[in-house]
Amino acid sequence: MASYAGKTVVVTGASQGIGRALCLELAPQRPRLVLAARDRAALDDAASACRERGAETLVVETDVTETGACRRLIERAVDTFGVLDVLVNNAGVGMVARLAEVKDLSIYERLMRVNYLGSVYPTYFALPHLQRARGQIVAISSLAGLTGVPLRTGYAATKHAQIGFFDSLRVELRSSGVSVTVVAPYFVRSEIRRRAVAGDGRPLARSPVREDDVMSAEECARQIVKAMQQRRRMLVMTLKGRVGRWVKLAAPALVDRMAERAVEAGK
Ligand code: NAP
Repeated sequence: MASYAGKTVVVTGASQGIGRALCLELAPQRPRLVLAARDRAALDDAASACRERGAETLVVETDVTETGACRRLIERAVDTFGVLDVLVNNAGVGMVARLAEVKDLSIYERLMRVNYLGSVYPTYFALPHLQRARGQIVAISSLAGLTGVPLRTGYAATKHAQIGFFDSLRVELRSSGVSVTVVAPYFVRSEIRRRAVAGDGRPLARSPVREDDVMSAEECARQIVKAMQQRRRMLVMTLKGRVGRWVKLAAPALVDRMAERAVEAGK
């Protein structure tokens, strides 16, 4: 299996949740980690924990919705470490509201800017460097990128867009030596739902999911690193997620009901 020793790995959304857990999971392999997000203090804290585990680190405050910030992120990574081997597009924001309850339509644009364009921009600037290194791109999407989920119209749309983009890019890069891994987690314990945008455009500030009953960010990170090391095309998390993909072909309405029940049960 591939090792990330000495490899330069950029992770967006590294300040908390899955991105932070992923950096900590990679750190013992002694990579050069570039941690990007907006919250400087949280990034510094994550970077310090990564250094304690053996990684070299660089923190770059980045808002992935801004093209200039994404260009600077990649430039800083390459200027500091000389190469870029891996880009993990992980930064994301959630949404919890039925369309009929939405009071602020700008939510849809805001989510698209973070979850979709926030993966496109870093990938665009990283691509020439990744091609030189025959490196890899990882996109943290969601099961909501593979099927419809109630109360997540805006979120699911961004995650479908993300998968469409990276599936297409994978074909473009077929002979380049650069691999593209799309990850589709099920519910993972993090702040994403408390920070999710509600129908009024403000943070939901509570989680409708039974956070104690869902996968930990650490377990999610372990599975992502394994898929990265194998340069897998796609990682769909949980048995339910994997079976659901096949069931959708024969009985899509059944998968709609599974998604509805999962949201109602919060797990
Ligand atoms: P989280 O705990 O809320 O973390 C989200 C991360 O994204 C934070 O580091 C945040 O950092 C960063 N971020 C948000 N907006 C940003 C922006 N404009 N620019 C730069 N960074 C930004 O969420 P998570 O659960 O770890 O989610 C990580 C990824 O996994 C997301 O793409 C999410 O859609 C996906 N996912 C999560 C779940 C789940 O159940 N948790 C399930 C499926 C998929 P700052 O606030 O510091 O900028």
